[in-house]
Amino acid sequence: MPLDGQNFDIIIVGGGLAGNCLALALGGSGLKIAVIEANTREQLLNSAMGDRALALAAGTIATLEGLGIWQGIEAKATAITDIHVSDKGHFGKVRLSARKQNVAALGYVITARDIESHVAELVDQTQITQIRPARLVGLMSDNHAVNVSIKHNDDSLCCSAKLLVGADGGNSSVRKLLDIPQQVTEYGQTALVTTVKTTLPHRNVAYERFTKSGPLAFLPIGKNQCSVVWTRTCEDADALMSGGENDFLERLQQCFGYRLGQLTLTAPRRAFPVSLVRAERMQSGRAVIVGNAVHQLHPVAGQGFNLGLRDVVQLVDGLLKHHGLGEDIGSATFLDDYVTAREQDHRNTIAFTDTLVKLFSNDWLAFAAARNIGLVALDHIPVAKALLSRHAMGLAQRLPKLGNRIQRDG
Ligand SMILES: Cc1cc2nc3c(=O)[nH]c(=O)nc-3n(C[C@H](O)[C@H](O)[C@H](O)COP(=O)(O)OP(=O)(O)OC[C@H]3O[C@@H](n4cnc5c(N)ncnc54)[C@H](O)[C@@H]3O)c2cc1C
Repeated sequence: MPLDGQNFDIIIVGGGLAGNCLALALGGSGLKIAVIEANTREQLLNSAMGDRALALAAGTIATLEGLGIWQGIEAKATAITDIHVSDKGHFGKVRLSARKQNVAALGYVITARDIESHVAELVDQTQITQIRPARLVGLMSDNHAVNVSIKHNDDSLCCSAKLLVGADGGNSSVRKLLDIPQQVTEYGQTALVTTVKTTLPHRNVAYERFTKSGPLAFLPIGKNQCSVVWTRTCEDADALMSGGENDFLERLQQCFGYRLGQLTLTAPRRAFPVSLVRAERMQSGRAVIVGNAVHQLHPVAGQGFNLGLRDVVQLVDGLLKHHGLGEDIGSATFLDDYVTAREQDHRNTIAFTDTLVKLFSNDWLAFAAARNIGLVALDHIPVAKALLSRHAMGLAQRLPKLGNRIQRDG
């Protein structure tokens, strides 16, 4: 059937992690779905962005299991059984442990490429219409439908849907076409990402080390390897990227110390500018935005995808209920309820990440003393530690359960 002029129940713009997880969760629901993705599969597999390691919280793993995704990537992921948080040059430390929380792992680490490509393969096995490489170029909502214009190769297509979901990332075209303004907080920092081999085993410990020029995270990935997210001031990051690999490694070793022995680089260095970007609204007409299209966070706390997946879970829960009752899935009432349900989690997660960045990127004596007293206190108060662990595991938020959609839908 030609794509031009087709009517869908839901059009999802963006076949990244948020968009494809949403599509998978709705597959088999009876809803007619299309995903519009700008990149080809080859571009996705070869993108340098795919090198970044994602720390997945325990709550995220439970959702991925329910969607039948985790089973196919578990072997490529490394468990985090302990998290060690410290403040370079000061005495404060917090140690979180899976054993003390009675769970097998606090979270897992996997490269974005491994999870993105697996989710994309699962979408290929469904009846979902995929339009790619294609870009959304226009949209207009009325009382009954949202009409979209798409550039697909050299063709221009028009399609319509009851609901449009913008899952098209930080530079979201959907957000721009809806005229939703965004608030940007610049931290003046760049995240340098690479992978190192260590001469001592990581023993599944994730290290978060706060230094006066920004946080440094070592995430266990594979045997004796750690994914590094090293946040520096922009000038410092430029100097580290333009210098030789040996200088880079020497500075990294100095900053992290010898807790894991001698470090060797096993992947190219990549630089990701970081800031906090928040859309002022999530909804307009028959369209809603999710994932990075709404919030782009500093990677310090590893919350971006975890938060985006919780958007997906909430939206799927509402869509299935409304569709089951035969109600309009693009109505203002439905979208208002969704937005209300997501606001608090967004506020809390953004505040948590932003506070960490600001508090720990500051070397004023009063700040340093306060945060070190805080870290020591946290390490000695079991209730506070349990709460922090629940936050790190992504279990601090109440979310609907998706169940095992893949098995249920056959
Ligand atoms: C260095 C770094 C480390 C990180 N670490 C973590 C971590 O440890 N844990 C964590 O949870 N998160 C982490 N994140 C955040 C995480 O990577 C993102 O939150 C997540 O990938 C966002 O997924 P998304 O699907 O919302 O957006 P994206 O991944 O940006 O996907 C958007 C998709 O939309 C497509 N698109 C864009 N425009 C259009 C258009 N006009 N038409 C059609 N398609 C379009 C794009 O091609 C893309 O495929 C990290 C990020 C960085 C940069």
